[in-house]
This record gives sequence, structure tokens and C-alpha cells, in this order.
Amino acid sequence: MNPRPRLVLLGKQGAGKGTQAVRLAEHYNIAHLSTGDLFRAQAKQGTAFGLEAKRYMDGGDLVPDEIVIGVIEECIAAGGPLAEGFVLDGFPRTRAQSEELERVLGERPIDMVVHIDVPREVVVERLSERRVCVKNSGHIYSVVKPPSTLWVCDRCGGDVIQREDDTPEAINKRLDTYERDTRPIRDFYASSGRPLVTIDGMGHTDEVFARICAAIDSVL
Ligand code: AMP
Repeated sequence: MNPRPRLVLLGKQGAGKGTQAVRLAEHYNIAHLSTGDLFRAQAKQGTAFGLEAKRYMDGGDLVPDEIVIGVIEECIAAGGPLAEGFVLDGFPRTRAQSEELERVLGERPIDMVVHIDVPREVVVERLSERRVCVKNSGHIYSVVKPPSTLWVCDRCGGDVIQREDDTPEAINKRLDTYERDTRPIRDFYASSGRPLVTIDGMGHTDEVFARICAAIDSVL
């Protein structure tokens, strides 16, 4: 098995990509890149790029392709954080981003694309209940599974809050954008011959994780 796989996670917002990406990164000893986390961190630091991205994010719109692609190119370049194995979470989100990713990866392409499938009504409920740690946004809670001290992250002590784009209006807009711009990426990967698997994202996170690993290990 290739010890450092290159993975892409696809799925609606709230399908569990962030939670599973953190676990996959640990399990396969690969880098985890969440473009959403990266943009939020930049916005918090107040960089010009972060503030530009925040304008789109807060309204539930996608950040324009040319901005996102530039960031990813830097990460994948030799010596960058994604030069070896990785799991991409939230990228690519448009066909142009997928095509650009293929181009940048060149002779060492994606090993597997994992689509985590959860019905829309379930993710709407999950996103409305979701609460995230702002200090280390890999940590995800919910109103039904809060941290042991309200609202302080169990793992790092950061504040746990509701994301500004987890409001009902922004959630619905983001899911419509997913259907229009991101869903067609699956056809792109299917036609480009990359291994693509759809995993049932319902059930306990441990069960979903086991399904994903079984699918990856059967291909690599
Ligand atoms: P996420 O945390 O993945 O739900 O991303 C939050 C927001 O960041 C999205 O609603 C977009 O505004 C922006 N974003 C994250 N990744 C991308 C991407 N690959 N392309 C465009 N916008 C993105």
C-alpha cells in the first residue's frame, strides 16, 4: 500500500468531511488541508487575503477560483505542506478547481476521491446545531454534544462558537451552491478515471471512518 495516499473528500457541508479528514490525516500520517479553516484563520489574522475571502464566506458564496487555486498551488509546490500525502477537505469545489488540481499534481495524481453521502435534511439539522472551536477549528461540537465545560474546547481550551455562515439562510445558499457547482465534480473524477467511492455518511463517526478506511485500503 502507498503509505502516504493523496485523498480528496467530497460531500455536502455538514456531511462530516472535517471530522473524518482529521482522523484520516492521523491514521495515514498525511497532511490535512481544509480550505475553509485556512480562509477563516487568515480572516482572523486580518490579512488582506483573509478579509477578501471573508466577504464571500459570510454570505455563503464561494471564494473566486483564481484566489483559491493560487493558495493550493503554493501548498502543493515542492517543499510545501502538501508535497507528500494529503487529505483535501473543501477543495476542489468547482470543476475549474478540479482541473487545476489535476494539472498541478501532474504525474502523482489523486489516489482516491471519497464522497461522503448524507441527505440534505440531515445536514441542515447538523449545521444548525454545529459549534466549532475557533482556536483550533479541527474540533467540532454541537448543541447536542457540547464540550464538558460550556463553551470551552475540551482539547485546547479555545472558545467554541457558532460559525457565522451556519445561519439558516447561509446554510441553504451554501447547499444550493454545492448542488450547482460541486456535485458535478464527481462526474469529472469518474470520467478522468480516478478511483471514486461513495460512502454512506449516516451513523456513528467511528462507523463512517471504518467504511472510508476499508474503501481506501481496498484500492491502495
Ligand atoms: P467550509 O469550512 O469548507 O464549509 O468552507 C467555508 C467557506 O469557505 C465556503 O462557504 C466558501 O465561502 C469558502 N471556501 C472554502 N473552500 C473553498 C473552495 N475550495 N472554493 C471556494 N470557496 C471555498
